[in-house]
Amino acid sequence: MSAELLQQIGAVLHGHFLLTSGRHSAVYFEKFRLLERPRLLSEFVAAMLAGLPAQQAQLVVGPTLGGVLVAYEAARQLGIPAAYAEREGDKRAFRRNGAPKPHTPVLVVDDVLTTGTSIREVLELLQGYQAQVVGIGVLIDRSEQPVDFGVPFHCALRLPASSYDPSECPLCKAGIPLTKRGSR
Ligand SMILES: [Zn+2]
Repeated sequence: MSAELLQQIGAVLHGHFLLTSGRHSAVYFEKFRLLERPRLLSEFVAAMLAGLPAQQAQLVVGPTLGGVLVAYEAARQLGIPAAYAEREGDKRAFRRNGAPKPHTPVLVVDDVLTTGTSIREVLELLQGYQAQVVGIGVLIDRSEQPVDFGVPFHCALRLPASSYDPSECPLCKAGIPLTKRGSR
C-alpha cells in the first residue's frame, strides 16, 4: 500500500492543522477518503492482516467510528465475528454486542494510529473480559515514535506525522491560518 495512492484520493492534506493531540502539523490525514472506498479499504485490511497472527483470532474488535468498518472487513476476510467498542463516558463498552468470553483470542484493529489512545481503551475493555489479545492491526500508523503495545503489531502503511508544540510551530510563526480537524 502506498502513500502516493492516499495522496491521489485526497486522503493526505497539506496546510496548517490543529490535531486531536493539541499539536500542530503541516499534514493532515483525512481517513474517510479511504474508509468511503470499500474496495480500497479491503486491500488495506488484507495488507494489515498479512502481518498478524490473524488465524489464531476468534473475534475482531475495533473502536467507533472508523475502527468499526475495519473490524467488520477484517472479520469478513477471516470468516469470524466482529464486535464494536463504542464510547461510554471516557471509556469503551460493548453496547450492542455480546462481550467476549474469558480467554477468547481477539484481534484488535483500528483505522489510524496516532498516539494509541483508542487502542489502549479497547485493550482495557478486553482486559475486563479476560480476553486474550493475539495482535493489533491498523491501516495507517501515523505515530511519530513507534508505539509498543506488548503484543504483535502490524500496519498496512507507516506514514509518520511530524507535529509541533504550538509554541514552537514554524507554521504559526509564518502566520499561516490554522485549521481544526479531528474528532475530539
Ligand atoms: Zn501552528
